[in-house]
Parts: sequence; C-alpha cells; structure tokens
Amino acid sequence: MLSEPLPSTLDVRKAAARGVSIKGTLKPLDLQRFRALLADDEGAIEAELTFSRDEENRYLIHLGITARVMVTCQRCLDPLPQTLACDNTLAVVWTDEQAGHLPRHLEPLVLEDEACRLWDVVEDELILALPPFSYHNTEECREILARFNAGQAPIEEALPAEKPNPFNVLAQLKPGSNT
Ligand SMILES: [Zn+2]
Repeated sequence: MLSEPLPSTLDVRKAAARGVSIKGTLKPLDLQRFRALLADDEGAIEAELTFSRDEENRYLIHLGITARVMVTCQRCLDPLPQTLACDNTLAVVWTDEQAGHLPRHLEPLVLEDEACRLWDVVEDELILALPPFSYHNTEECREILARFNAGQAPIEEALPAEKPNPFNVLAQLKPGSNT
C-alpha cells in the first residue's frame, strides 16, 4: 500500500551509501508549479526514488513516478484524465562543473547542499512528462461539443429561417480575417 506521503527532503550522500529506496504519494496540490498546468486538484501521484552510487562513485537517483491527473482538452476545454509515467536516472552533482563532466547518458541534478528536495525532483519530472497538448479522442470531444451546442440551440433557432445570402455573409467578414 502506497499511502504514506513522500518525505520532502533526504540527505543524498547518506541515502546513497545505504542504497535507500523511498516510496510515497503526493497530491497535485502539493506541487504548485505542476498543479498550475492541470485542470483541477483531482488525482494521485506515486513516486519511488532509489539512491545508489555507481562504479565511478557518482550519486544516482533512480526515479519511478506514476501520476493520474486531470488536464484540459485543448479542443473542447473540458477536463480529461491523463496518466503520466516517468522512469529516469539522475546523477546528483553540487557544481555546474561536475555536471559538465557527466557522461552524456546521465542527466544532472544540481543540488546546493546535502539535502535533496524530493518533491521538487518529482515535480520537475512530472512537468517534463506532461504532454504540451492533450485531447479527448475525437468521438468524445464531438459529444461534449454537441452537448454544449444543444444548450445554445434556442439562440440558433431564433435566427431567421430563410437561407442567408452568401454575399451578405461575405460582406460581414472583416477584410483579411481568417475563418
Ligand atoms: Zn475534448
């Protein structure tokens, strides 16, 4: 059962020396930068961070994160559920110079001191994992838009029943407007 909240900080060097693996949950509201990109507060985030040292004595954090959150459909603007999964290994360094010396396959995590703010690490990964645009499948969007249009129906029915003259319609368009 993953019901314990994820600790907010951990000493990287100690955790790596002991090969600590730490699991916990978070809510979207715990991560304000990530929450700002979501449709609402609903959802759950599960994270597992495993600390180790490699043969070069580098400090590594392996991240496994699963999140179920609500995002906004960019077509109909209704919320839709989105599942995010991150699986990544970060190499902890304390200076930009150290970061520059890492082999290309290792992503640096630059820390200011021993304490690693786990929530920030999880939040950064989730922000990167979030697709820039999300959409329902076409059929679902069409139904939502149809329901929306149904609510507008009385206004549309109030329009004149006769066929509009296409030249009048064209005349109403602003010059240079793209439709
Ligand atoms: Zn949609």
